[in-house]
Amino acid sequence: MRRDVLGSALAVGLLAAACAPASRLPALSQNDIEAETRLQQIAHIRKYYSELHRVDTIAFRIRTANRADCHGWESAQIGLHAATPQSLPSRYRSYSREALDLTWARPTVISVVEGSPAAGAGITIGDQIIALNGELIPVTGTAGWMAGWLKHHGAKPLQANLRRDGVDRTVTITPVMGCAIPIVYMADATIDAATDGDRIIIHSGMVMLAKSDAQLAHIIGHELAHANLGHLDKRLVNTVAGWVGGTLIDAGFLSGGISTGGAFRKEFAKAGARAFSVNFEREADYVGAYYAARAGYDMAGAEEFWRELGLAHPDSIRFARTHPITAVRFLQLKKVAAEIADKRGRNLPLMPELKSPYSHEAPRQSFSNSGNGL
Ligand SMILES: [Zn+2]
Repeated sequence: MRRDVLGSALAVGLLAAACAPASRLPALSQNDIEAETRLQQIAHIRKYYSELHRVDTIAFRIRTANRADCHGWESAQIGLHAATPQSLPSRYRSYSREALDLTWARPTVISVVEGSPAAGAGITIGDQIIALNGELIPVTGTAGWMAGWLKHHGAKPLQANLRRDGVDRTVTITPVMGCAIPIVYMADATIDAATDGDRIIIHSGMVMLAKSDAQLAHIIGHELAHANLGHLDKRLVNTVAGWVGGTLIDAGFLSGGISTGGAFRKEFAKAGARAFSVNFEREADYVGAYYAARAGYDMAGAEEFWRELGLAHPDSIRFARTHPITAVRFLQLKKVAAEIADKRGRNLPLMPELKSPYSHEAPRQSFSNSGNGL
């Protein structure tokens, strides 16, 4: 056994020697590599939180503007994100203090939504937030604790104890109510967004593809519409692009040298077809555009998003499996944007057109998740 191991090690060593590059590579110092690694890590976490801030801002506006459509699943929201190094995912801890100016002793505000109750109370990034109505905010699980506290206390005005530049102060924040569904931002390159009715997940690939905030609001609105309109079969996760998840899994197997013959993509497509129809997806696009418009976004030109998606995933230009082809989505959004602009011009309420007055009365499914809205 031991000889086998030694033999293998020797074989690997010989192989490595045989495969060594012929060029004389520049010598790199270990210190320089470590310093560059840290720079890249710090840049990554700063980018992550700046994208999270963009998602938080749009999500806050969508949630509060469409509160009436969320069938009572609401929570109090103030529009800020506070953290300590120990409250962040462990892979960020070693450099988050330097990247985000955090301290271990007290939560620091890392994002404030423009126009939110927190912004109205004068809270800014870098403030340390110590207590709500005299209750100390914990330094671990900070975001979850604050969401739970707000859920329990509702929209009653609250006193927040802050420390700025070493000076303590107290401000009054008046929360607003909004849809409670959590919107989770995932830092990976997948071009997709999804909902299972308990949460909305949006991947950074999708955030980067959405060039304008109106486009990103349209995507979040699409998922919220699925949840509100009772489109969901909770055994399945619904997505904005449907087949993309399966395609990525197939690609993963292919790169490992195993062809699945598109089996996963077919399964995803079949699963999607069972639960949703292309027309439900069109309805989510339609109502989602209204949700974005109610949140104050100008939808003119937002349809360009579907051309971008077509470029990123050319299959979606021609094949309608679970979702409309991108040409249909582009043309529909262009028409909806014009419909919304016409209503705005005539001071009409931004209500989607219904086939009958009861068409959107589909009951919400029950929710076990409490949500952690900002
Ligand atoms: Zn969808």
